[in-house]
Amino acid sequence: RSPFASVREMWRSAIEAAPDSPFIHSFERTLTFAEVDERADRLAAALHRSGIGPDDRVAVYAQNDPLFVIGLLATWRLGGIVVPVNPMNTARELRYHLADSEARALITIPGLYDTVARDALDGSAVQVTVVGEHQRWVQENSAIRIETVPVPTELPAGVITAEAAYSSPGELPAEPGSGAADTAVLTYTSGTTGRPKGAMNTHGNLVFNAESYIEITGLQTGQPILGIAPLFHITGMVGHIMLAVRAHCPIVLSHRFNAEVMLETIRRRKPVLAVGAITALMALADSPARRDGDFDSLESVFSGGAPIAPALGDRLERVLGAYVHNVYGMSETASPTHAVPRGERAPVDPASGALSIGKPIYNTTCRVVAETGEDCRPGEYGEILSRGPQITPGYWHNPEATAQAFVDGFLRTGDVGFVDEQGWYYLVDRKKDMINASGYKVWPREVEDVLYSHPAVSEAAVVGVADAYRGETVKAFVTLKTGAQATEDELRDYCKANRAAYKYPRQIEVLDELPKTATGKILRRVLRD
Ligand code: ATP
Ligand code: MG
Repeated sequence: RSPFASVREMWRSAIEAAPDSPFIHSFERTLTFAEVDERADRLAAALHRSGIGPDDRVAVYAQNDPLFVIGLLATWRLGGIVVPVNPMNTARELRYHLADSEARALITIPGLYDTVARDALDGSAVQVTVVGEHQRWVQENSAIRIETVPVPTELPAGVITAEAAYSSPGELPAEPGSGAADTAVLTYTSGTTGRPKGAMNTHGNLVFNAESYIEITGLQTGQPILGIAPLFHITGMVGHIMLAVRAHCPIVLSHRFNAEVMLETIRRRKPVLAVGAITALMALADSPARRDGDFDSLESVFSGGAPIAPALGDRLERVLGAYVHNVYGMSETASPTHAVPRGERAPVDPASGALSIGKPIYNTTCRVVAETGEDCRPGEYGEILSRGPQITPGYWHNPEATAQAFVDGFLRTGDVGFVDEQGWYYLVDRKKDMINASGYKVWPREVEDVLYSHPAVSEAAVVGVADAYRGETVKAFVTLKTGAQATEDELRDYCKANRAAYKYPRQIEVLDELPKTATGKILRRVLRD
């Protein structure tokens, strides 16, 4: 269990233990724990002056910039609830998040303010907007340069700048003293299967997961963490920010992902640990800008949020020189429920070819349950249910969705999987993505794994499409590696040779690119449509 009841308690402990050690590296700038604390307090004072207080929702809409982290700490200083918003969202999507969470404040950066936020604010409950400068990389011809983006000089009433707040100390109310059961963050689900829902992650959920990430990674004080995951996503929130605060480690940020920029950052900051999505890790490994020795500092790599095809995991391990740990979690669980125990390697299931997602982490109980509600035997497919200190109490203002999500105190993950005799868990697929081909259940991921093992295939997504004869039939969309060639017939024959007849894709389409969420998840529902 965590020794802390809230994220603020955990933060204060970091400030006492390591005030002058680096906390955020962003391009050439570095902020220590104490510097971030001072800025967060001053921003909190400015928000307080604008009427923001306990339980108020503060939307943070920015990329991986220092302001993002400062905004969270400022919100929690006042006992508020952070609503991280994907910076790739359009004005319409931002409007949805602001309305659904009934946000009263918005913290953002100049580019997003001018292009999106200004429009989305009309008619919202937001009464104060903070805009703060940041740095970003820009690609010019073939060169990349770093630039500082200042805040616009003309700002309407109700909009303040972070810099003005940082330079003027103000009155702060007494700490409200958030408790373990209080909501710290509303994490909107990725919207892979439908409309995003706001999972309430409590202070207790987050401090537990900070602890579990240390257990999983073995990270030591002062070891830099490479921030590959977006901070607005729960993987970045916990696997970067919470972990860094708890372990007193610096996080290395670079605004948003670009393989070349990230490689330069790695050379400079020598991170020991990397946490990110498999697609981003692949982009690093496959980047033409990669040089020998780039990954020498990396001791361990963690991939969460999306499946790792075993063939991909092996290739990544060869290039990165570090084992790629598979971590399983979701917005509702504030990150991991399952992980590969330290020092062990996840097995591959011989029958399905799936890579294990590990075992339930400590204090976490999981079950695999059949449609009948009974527990499955080892090897049998069923829905994975989880219970533990990291699980959300429910969805924000959505009692129906909350009621549907729980059974006997266990969270229904919506993921189908199985457990083997040794207690290793495997994910088969999302319940909603199952394809019913003439009564046969086909799990898209099994077919995708075969495609990934083909040397020409870069990415694959499999969906069910309507078929007059079978009801539904299997269709694959693939992208090919640069310079590689394979015809649709060849790929179909390859699958046919490697999978049961009812599972091989009857239709294959080669695309230039697959649709993805901002966190790099392939959007099957878009392909299906
Ligand atoms: P929505 O709930 O809105 O459809 P989402 O489920 O993709 O979106 P997240 O909470 O970001 O939103 O993602 C959690 C899901 O990601 C899990 O339910 C699971 O399907 C998938 N996932 C997470 N980790 C892994 C992993 N290691 N391997 C395979 N899939 C994973
Ligand atoms: Mg989900």
